[in-house]
Amino acid sequence: MLDAIVIGSGPNGLVAANRLARAGMTVRVLEQNKAIGGALRSRELTLPGFVHDLGAAFFPFASASPALQSLELGQAGLAWCKAEVESAHPALDGSCASLVRNLDDLDGYFAGDGDAWRKVAVWTRCVRDKLLALLLATPVSLTAAWKLGAMNLLRFAEIGLSSGRGWSERRFQSEAARRVLPGLALHTDIGPDDEFGAAVGFMLAALATVDGFAVPRGGAGAITAALLQRLAEQGGDVMAGCGVTQIIVKRGRAIGVRTPEGDLEARVIVADVAAPTLYLKLLPEAALPSQVIASMRRFHHGFGTFKMDWALDGPVPWRNEACRRAAVVHPGESNQDLARFVKQVRAGELPDLPYLVVGQQSLLDPSRAPAGKHTLWCYSRVPSTRPWRADAPLFAARIEDRIEGLAPGFKKLILARHVAAPPDLEATNPNLIGGDLGGGSAQLDQQLFFRPMFPYFRYRTPVNGLYLCSSYTHPGAGVHGMCGFNAAAAVLSDHG
Ligand SMILES: Cc1cc2nc3c(=O)[nH]c(=O)nc-3n(C[C@H](O)[C@H](O)[C@H](O)COP(=O)(O)OP(=O)(O)OC[C@H]3O[C@@H](n4cnc5c(N)ncnc54)[C@H](O)[C@@H]3O)c2cc1C
Repeated sequence: MLDAIVIGSGPNGLVAANRLARAGMTVRVLEQNKAIGGALRSRELTLPGFVHDLGAAFFPFASASPALQSLELGQAGLAWCKAEVESAHPALDGSCASLVRNLDDLDGYFAGDGDAWRKVAVWTRCVRDKLLALLLATPVSLTAAWKLGAMNLLRFAEIGLSSGRGWSERRFQSEAARRVLPGLALHTDIGPDDEFGAAVGFMLAALATVDGFAVPRGGAGAITAALLQRLAEQGGDVMAGCGVTQIIVKRGRAIGVRTPEGDLEARVIVADVAAPTLYLKLLPEAALPSQVIASMRRFHHGFGTFKMDWALDGPVPWRNEACRRAAVVHPGESNQDLARFVKQVRAGELPDLPYLVVGQQSLLDPSRAPAGKHTLWCYSRVPSTRPWRADAPLFAARIEDRIEGLAPGFKKLILARHVAAPPDLEATNPNLIGGDLGGGSAQLDQQLFFRPMFPYFRYRTPVNGLYLCSSYTHPGAGVHGMCGFNAAAAVLSDHG
């Protein structure tokens, strides 16, 4: 019998498997897809020679995550590329505020508010390690909170209690600077005016400034390859194309899993799956307290995601010069514009002026495209449910129009495109329910003690021997592997 089965080979599943295998357990990962890696994969989606990231593409946690650091993935061949400018936030009026790692350079980049951002960024650099220890650890670590100190906790509380727009308006004078944090928060489902919304945008801005939006050489799939190599070195293995249809429970204890190929037994099961899938589909109802089932039926997802990739004949001819050197570009006119966008998504409408996250991987890593050519990666947030067959071409055209407005000549460079609406994303990875890339809403009512639900927020479940390790647990979305790392720690503490 195996010591542990991990269901799902996303970054959290692979990190959990690695940690358990390193502790001496026999581990097998079961992945329902033929391809391994979950939302951390790369492929030639458009034309031969153009390598596109299917999901995650930029990795601010690369050097910030204790989980990834502990695996020393550099020794498994992983190499990082960085840009001069991390994140540029242009508007049609020509204004742009950008985040850079070199704080001496800030004056030219932060739309007149360089001094104000520098003060915040310098503080962030000083407290980075302690703040990350607090935010990434199993919730809630009193030791980590104590180490951060009272003054820093108060400063962070001031951010946590603010909306993105409120916090930015108190700090910055220019609209360009004021739209940076709310723009970053829209990587999740947090709008500029949402209460307690400033923390997510702040964390991303801080990570961009301190660690950078790095990309792996060769594509996001290189991280998965390195995680797999590390697992193999410890004797763990992955069975691809083997989906788990049920978790077998006997006398309140998980004893194995059912797959189309047959049943498999293990002492411990660690699930890198969506929380509603685990509780409402994979477990027998009789194994769960009724309030757990009720809580999962109330679970709310984040916005849907609409993703596009292009093969281009050259780099995007952005009007703004900082955008031409940026890892990520976030078009968004103003906080007003972002708030209107969020209102449309929440109302189930197709946004007329899509907010965008645009990734320029091939600028940082030329291996992604043939010489002189480029890839471009982009997503916007959308309602999960729409008549996507009809809407997808319309929305794709709106996205291209928005980029063309900021970069005249962009459309002429397009050699090929790939479009994925929410149902397409979910079809490639069942964890992306309705195109939600965040493992559920990132609003406060689904954070910390409530992720994915109280009192099962520390990776354990009501079923003995069964643990949840996906981004539906704390600290949520992003390729940091900490959900898997912390869940494995819970397994080791329970099972030795
Ligand atoms: C379009 C997009 C862009 C993103 N951009 C970024 C970014 O730039 N930077 C960043 O840090 N993060 C980004 N993310 C988020 C990041 O990719 C996720 O937070 C992360 O991949 C979550 O990892 P995970 O291991 O929890 O789950 P996933 O990566 O979703 O993997 C889960 C795996 O489990 C498998 N599975 C599910 N159910 C079963 C079952 N019953 N049996 C067997 N296998 C099963 C799935 O097939 C999948 O392979 C992005 C995500 C998307 C979709």
